[in-house]
Order: sequence, then structure tokens, then C-alpha cells
Amino acid sequence: MTSPASDGHYSIELPLSCPLLINGEEGPATGGREFHRENPADTRQVATVAAQGSAEDARAAIDAARRAFAGNAGNWLNNYKLREQTLFQTARLMRENADRLAQVVSLEVGMPMRQAAPHVAAAADIFEFYAGLAGKIYGESFTLPNGSMINLVKEPVGVVGLITPWNFPLTQTARKVAPALAAGCTIVLKPASYTPAAAYELVKLIQQTGLPAGVLNLVPGPGTVVGAELIGSKAVDKLSFTGETGTGKMIAAQAATEVKRISLELGGKAPYLIFDDADVEGAARAAVFGMFRNAGQACGATTRLLLQEGIHDRVLERVAQLTRNIEVGHPAAAATDLGPLISASQERVVQEYIQFGLDAGLDLVAGGNKLRGGGFDYGYYVEPTIFDRVDNNSRLGQEEIFGPVVAVTTFKDEAEAVELANAVEFGLVAGVWSADYPRAMRVARRIRAGTVWIWDNYAQPVEGIWGGYKQSGIGRELGYYGLEDFLEVKQIFTDGTGLTSKPPYGQVIKE
Ligand code: NDP
Repeated sequence: MTSPASDGHYSIELPLSCPLLINGEEGPATGGREFHRENPADTRQVATVAAQGSAEDARAAIDAARRAFAGNAGNWLNNYKLREQTLFQTARLMRENADRLAQVVSLEVGMPMRQAAPHVAAAADIFEFYAGLAGKIYGESFTLPNGSMINLVKEPVGVVGLITPWNFPLTQTARKVAPALAAGCTIVLKPASYTPAAAYELVKLIQQTGLPAGVLNLVPGPGTVVGAELIGSKAVDKLSFTGETGTGKMIAAQAATEVKRISLELGGKAPYLIFDDADVEGAARAAVFGMFRNAGQACGATTRLLLQEGIHDRVLERVAQLTRNIEVGHPAAAATDLGPLISASQERVVQEYIQFGLDAGLDLVAGGNKLRGGGFDYGYYVEPTIFDRVDNNSRLGQEEIFGPVVAVTTFKDEAEAVELANAVEFGLVAGVWSADYPRAMRVARRIRAGTVWIWDNYAQPVEGIWGGYKQSGIGRELGYYGLEDFLEVKQIFTDGTGLTSKPPYGQVIKE
């Protein structure tokens, strides 16, 4: 294993690739079409050349998954030991190839290596966790007074279509693929077009475990083509999607026509509430971590810093200091804390929000600029930026930016803090910092979000859950809930009376 050089270069050979994987066979897309993913840290470089899957390719992958499910491929559905071993071995292979995986993620996403390495470890943990659950999918049994028995058995939901985003490509994929495999589903995976190689590197390792053909199929290609085919297909029983709320709404509307089961992990506008009695240092560090991890390109990123009047100045001063110390640079360099944004369009969006803040005359506490000169000229680098005195009802207070731009708003008391926290259409995550634990707990209970952190930020243990209230989504990933998302419950009713003629039958059959 080699480490990337500190001057901003990776040791892996480029360009990376991502073929189709259908029924255990790797290959090109129909017609040999390909697309290129540039390196967001240096757009002169092609990071990945991927097969551009067509609707026909998607249909072939769905057919393969359908056949594998119907044929109980290699005893896949019945033998939980097989699924358990696949998942454990995947976790082991991920750890053995951790450096390569981290470099691939860092390269395609622009994620600093310091964040890409723990990202790989977190994804491996997810496979290991679901390996442990594969053999613990218990049913329930109940005997009625007349001796009849109800058996509730849990079965895999069937063929699942998984559509993933680019921002944390391994964990986002692991959160879907690992529980789907543990449940005994068969899969068609459509990775984000910005990060096809990250998905392929993971799929390759899973294949190495000896997975039966057709259980896991990979089709890179445009969401509007490959993703749309997964959503519209009658042969796909369930769709699990992570991405923008707008895309999620469209998927929900389309899926409704097939009554397709869906899970949606969508956008966020996370508040972090800091009360007057908070430990300034602890709270400021927690906030900054949540604000600028992965350049703020995170659904759970702290995008609204809500500060109580009495502590506002002290926290903001410390947050600004910590922000100014953030080293923006090439993601491959060991010292880099914040890399480039994912794309030119995302950079434009972020700059528009910064311009909005400047035009509104808000206090610019840190950042505000696109970085230029030297290597910065070839990537999408924007300074971590903080605006104070933001009206929570303004665009900066309401809209998901998905970049390193944070809005600070002041509140008077607990009631106002909760009101501000909830006054957005999203409800993914939030944070609370107060020395008064009963108050922190009270506030956590009143915030309408899928996760609320007290005295921490962005902790995502696999044993917990992840998912949103309101327009942040439907369903939960991680933990046992994440497995249930890929299970159906079936009732098997067995008569225990031994009678051929029973009272209810009399409603239809005369004796
Ligand atoms: P997008 O919605 O643009 O894309 C997500 C995935 O959906 C990609 O694979 C994309 O393919 C595909 N897709 C796009 N359009 C369609 C379509 N019409 N039909 C089917 N599939 C489609 O989101 P991003 O990748 O930009 O991810 C960022 C968003 O994801 C943010 O809003 C963020 O908040 C959210 N997110 C939510 C998380 C959560 O857990 N709640 C976690 C992480 C991110 P392609 O790449 O080819 O366009």
C-alpha cells in the first residue's frame, strides 16, 4: 500500500474505470458509449472513464436481478450464512484496500484524504454490522384461543433499485447495498455520475467474495435514463434513493403509479443551537466540524448556527478563528481540511448564495471568495464562508446550499430557538449545546428532525439510524430499521381446529 504524496498527487493509476456489471459479467454499455468524470481538484485531469448505461442496459440488469431472485441464485435467499460471509468478507476486503478506496473517493469527490480514510472505515463498519444481522431476521408466532396459529415471517422485498448520491459515495452505497444483501434481495445499483469509480471499486470487492451472478448488478449512466428505468420498471419491487429533495419528489410521484415501495433520503438545512450556558470551546468545535466537513457538501451539514444572545459574540469569535485556520487545498495533500467543490455548477450555486449575502448587507464573518492562483485555478475552490445576522426566513436561512456557506442567527430564549430550528421545510438533523441537560433533552424532543445531537455533531454510528422528518425523506437507514426497509412481513395462518365446517363459513355455505 502506498500513500499519496503531500504535494497533492495520488499514487493510483488514472483514469479509473467503471464498466457495467450485469449477471456477474463486466462489460461496456450498449453501443460502447462512455462518459468522463473530471478531477474536481484539477480539471485538466480525467479521473474516470465510465460506461454510459442505456435504458436497455438497465432493463438487462433488472432482468438479471429478477432471474437471480426468482431462481434463488446459489441458495442466496435461503442461506443466511452465505449472505453473512459475503458481508463480513466485503468489510475485510475494504479494510485491506482502504488506501486505494480512500484515494478513489478523494479523487472523484474532492474529499480531503483526512476525511476519505475514515469514510472508508465507516463504510466497512456498515458491511460488518449487517453481516451480524443477516442471521437474525426472526419472525413472530402467535396462537389463537381456538388453536389456530399466526406465523409472521420476514422475507426480502425482492429486486431493489438503489440510486445513490456522490457526496459520501461509499457509506451512501453501503447503507443500501449491505442491508439489501443481508435481507436476501437482489440489486441494481445506479451510482451518481460524479462518482462511478467509487461505486465500482466497492462492487468489485463484493464480487470477489463469490457472490452468485445476478445478485448485484451495476449500471452507471444518467439518472434521467438509468434511474428512470429503475423507477418505472414493474420488475423492480423497491426503490431506495438518496439525493436532492426535488429529485426525490419526482421519484415519489413516478413510483406511485406502480405502488412501488420507496425510501427517500433527501436534503437538509440543519440548525445547531448553542445556549448561553454552553462550553464555548466544545460547542464551537462541534459546530465547525459539522459546517465544513466535505466542504459542507453533506445533507446533515450544520448550515444554520443559532446562537443565544448572551453567548453570540464569544462563540462566533471562536468559530471564526477555527474557520480561518481551515486549510483549503488539494484533497490529496495530507494537511488539507477543505478541498474543492464537486463541479462547476455547484461552485456557481455556492457563489450565488455568497453574493446574495453580500447584496443583503449581512456581516461577512469569514471567507466569501473563490480561491484563485496556482493550483486553485484548475479546481472548484471556495473559502469556508460565514454570514452573521441572517434572517431565518431569507434564502440563506431556508434553502439547502450544499457548500461551505453558513448562516448565523440569534435567538432570545428556548421557545424562539425551537421555533427557528423548526421553521424550515427540512427535518434531517440538528444539534443542541447547553450545560443544562434537561433543557437540551427538552429541546431535542421538540425539534422535528430524524437525529438530534447533544454535545456532539455529525456522529453517525451504524447502530443508530439516519433519515428525515418532513421533506428530508421517508424511511430510515442504518441500524435494524435500515434492514427492515428491505423486508416484507408475511402472515401465514394455519388452522388449528381441525374442523371442516367453521362458524364463519356459514355466511356463505348453508349446512
Ligand atoms: P441528485 O438528486 O442530483 O442525484 C442523486 C442520484 O439520483 C444520482 O445518482 C443521480 O444520477 C440520480 N438522479 C438524478 N436525476 C434523476 C432522475 N430524474 N431519475 C432518477 N434518478 C435521478 O443529488 P446529488 O447527487 O446532487 O446529491 C446531493 C443531494 O443529496 C443533496 O440534496 C443532499 O442533501 C442529498 N443527500 C441526502 C442524504 C440523506 O441521507 N438524507 C445524504 C446525502 C445526500 P446522476 O448523477 O446521473 O444525475
